[in-house]
Amino acid sequence: MIGQTRYPHVFSPLELGFTRLKNRILMGSMHTGLEEADNGFERMAAFFAERARGGVGMIITGGIAPNAQGGVGSKLSTPAEAAQHRQITEAVHAADPEVKICLQILHSGPLARVPDCVAPSAVKSRIGTYRPIELDEAGIEQQIADFANCAALARDAGYDGVEVIGSAGYLLSTFLVQKTNLRTDRWGGSWENRMRFPVEVMKRVREAVGPDFILIFRISAMDMLDGGLAWDEVVSLGKAVEAAGANIISTHFCWHESPVPTIATMVPRAAFAQVTGRLRKELTVPMITSNRINMPEVAEAVLARGDADLVSMARPMLADPDLVIKAMQGREDEINTCIACNQACLDHTFGGRKQVSCLVNPRACNETLLTYPQADQPRRIAVVGAGPAGLAYATVAAGRGHAVTLFEAGADIGGQFNLARRIPGKEEFNETLRYYRRMIDVHAIDLRLSCRVDAAMLREMAFDEVIIATGIEPRRPELNGIDHPKVVPYVDAILGRKPIGKRVAIMGAGGIGFDVAELISHEGVSGAVDIEVFAREWGIDFKNHPRGGVTGVEPMVAAADRTIYLMQRKPEAPGRSLGRTTGWTHRMTLARRGVNMVSGVEYLKIDDSGLHALVNGEPRTFEVDTVIVCAGQNPLRKLHDELTALGIASTLVGGAFEATELDAKRAIDQASRLAAIA
Ligand code: FAD
Ligand code: NAP
Ligand code: SF4
Repeated sequence: MIGQTRYPHVFSPLELGFTRLKNRILMGSMHTGLEEADNGFERMAAFFAERARGGVGMIITGGIAPNAQGGVGSKLSTPAEAAQHRQITEAVHAADPEVKICLQILHSGPLARVPDCVAPSAVKSRIGTYRPIELDEAGIEQQIADFANCAALARDAGYDGVEVIGSAGYLLSTFLVQKTNLRTDRWGGSWENRMRFPVEVMKRVREAVGPDFILIFRISAMDMLDGGLAWDEVVSLGKAVEAAGANIISTHFCWHESPVPTIATMVPRAAFAQVTGRLRKELTVPMITSNRINMPEVAEAVLARGDADLVSMARPMLADPDLVIKAMQGREDEINTCIACNQACLDHTFGGRKQVSCLVNPRACNETLLTYPQADQPRRIAVVGAGPAGLAYATVAAGRGHAVTLFEAGADIGGQFNLARRIPGKEEFNETLRYYRRMIDVHAIDLRLSCRVDAAMLREMAFDEVIIATGIEPRRPELNGIDHPKVVPYVDAILGRKPIGKRVAIMGAGGIGFDVAELISHEGVSGAVDIEVFAREWGIDFKNHPRGGVTGVEPMVAAADRTIYLMQRKPEAPGRSLGRTTGWTHRMTLARRGVNMVSGVEYLKIDDSGLHALVNGEPRTFEVDTVIVCAGQNPLRKLHDELTALGIASTLVGGAFEATELDAKRAIDQASRLAAIA
């Protein structure tokens, strides 16, 4: 196989003595929401089996609590619960007997959303719901026993191993850190005492499962907390859990409350692997690294450098279940790459929406519900517009056997993704376009670029079906002076078609307003492609690894050589509509660059002296050279209306269907679902 020569490290097996992993890529743990869904076990079985067939060496399930206080939503503490898990392990082993599957044991501690949540001390987390109850000696013993019981039941359920999560602000890690462990008994105080609980858990789990069972410990190798773990503590914890029976250690790089992005789009690929590499030199068991490793060549480079023995890919396995097999077969240009947007995965988990999926792959976690079977009767379908909606529709429909012609007015495919990919931090959007370009070839889609379609053309070509994916047109607010030369639509600003002055007002603080502010306040290399720049921007010291890995001083961010006002009419603070798990990073970055956020604006007029407005009722003139308009969008349905007038039926998708609150997640999801039944 090509993969073995192109990715020799990825495709070399890993011997663990009693068992063997067939390659070095594992699917990392993710809570998908299926754990609590109707038919959840059936759906999880299908979800994991599809990834097993896709070539991954090992799978770690989403977190399952060892008891009700663990507060994850799904627990494993009884034989009846273990019996349900058999569906998962049997499906995975049937898909490929060589693939290993481990259950992650997650006790959320003070982050559990249950009123009787527990912790070493009654310290409420900034992001927790309840103040936890301080565990007494008997309570601690019970928790340890519950971990051991859960692991033994996992073995009974057919799992090949368990992963115990000792990081992220969950129970085990709160024993380790001084600010969450205020105890003075043998479970707190000195480092040896603070380490006792996780080490005891590991010992007792090992006793419960025996020697021939994979036992992974997830360690906070860099927790990004002011006052977090020092490097020598990380090393001594690693050694202690090794001695307690771990046969793999997996590095984790955050607490959920740490103010540093560790997996979002603006994090460079494999940025944190160097930390695993340093820890690997101190320990003897195989080590897993993770975070922003989304393509096989990145995994290969990490392994070849000696930074890790195994690479964990979690979200990339939502984006493409066949990632590993495609690498193996030399089809890496067909990989649907995770763009680290978090929009359909972590934003759903943390935003209260139960079910996870993927922006670029709506089938993720819907394997039993959304399928793309071969069409009974292949038809000739015209798709007009090659933005995300049109591309998704064309790809799914052609994959099902329809003859698809894809028309695009522009010189290239992509629609608004051609704007998004130019924003520093959104470089990964290029991968989605590469994927679709390849799919157009694979499925023999007849692509007509630089071809603006009108109703007469479509009538003449007499397709069986017409899909209108023509997207949107930017909204142009009715405002005195909107034609003034200093007014620039966001499309022209992003494409650099018009000069942008030193003093700028941005009208509209939605996703695009924020992106434009990022673009024009940015200087130099994007932190998303340069680990040193990223580290400087977020105050991380990879080299010296101070406590928590963070310097504690205000991070250095490239100063914007501009005065920028980011404005909206709503009275609330701008940025509420941004992603749940990423919005804070954008707000923080712009604040550090000195971008002025202005809410409660009533725009009055634009003239030579600038933008005149009322701000919370007070008149104010913003003396700016440029006004960039990011005031939302309207659907572009002209073609649909013309066809309707000719009596030709057509189907609207994406922005053409509905522009309000449209994003690529909705556009791709809607188009894929429609194409699945075409
Ligand atoms: P479009 O992308 O607008 O595509 C429509 C296509 O139709 C265009 O290529 C157009 O040329 C073509 N077309 C129009 N009329 C015709 C015709 N008559 N004949 C032939 N072709 C025609 N979304 C997210 O989810 N996450 C993000 O992080 C994100 N960031 C963004 C950043 C920026 C700067 C911008 C501008 C948008 C961003 N979006 C993001 C929004 C996302 O890009 C859109 O929601 C998505 O592109 C909508 O897809 P669509 O296919 O409906 O429309
Ligand atoms: P948007 O999020 O709806 O924001 C439009 C902005 O314009 C708002 O600030 C709105 O706030 C303002 N506005 C609306 N009508 C106006 C008018 N007549 N005059 C002046 N201001 C007006 O839309 P967008 O920024 O254009 O983004 C389009 C879509 O792309 C969004 O749905 C977004 O989800 C998606 N996107 C997502 C991301 C991401 O990172 N996830 C990034 C970019 C884009 P006020 O009404 O309060 O002024
Ligand atoms: Fe990756 Fe975005 Fe899909 Fe999540 S939603 S898996 S971050 S592409």
